[in-house]
Amino acid sequence: MHEDEIAFIAANDPESVLRRCAADRKLLKLHGGKMHSCPATDEADYLDEWTQFRHEDTCPVVQLIAEGYGWAEETSLADAQGQTPPTEGDRMT
Ligand SMILES: [Zn+2]
Repeated sequence: MHEDEIAFIAANDPESVLRRCAADRKLLKLHGGKMHSCPATDEADYLDEWTQFRHEDTCPVVQLIAEGYGWAEETSLADAQGQTPPTEGDRMT
């Protein structure tokens, strides 16, 4: 690894990045792939605090987490900027 890469990683607080990734994984575990209720707005921007989501649905929390990683609903996760979705056990190198 080049010294400038080491300096870049150190300047971007890798411990903070790892904490955010761990928190995102916990949110995905809580909201992804299972039936649950989650607050969501409809087309008229009306907030329904108890919107029901089925296991195959993507609730707003998962959509917002994906947005933070640069993945949009209309973009395949595998195609987004050449990135692949994080999986459990991913670590920064
Ligand atoms: Zn949810």
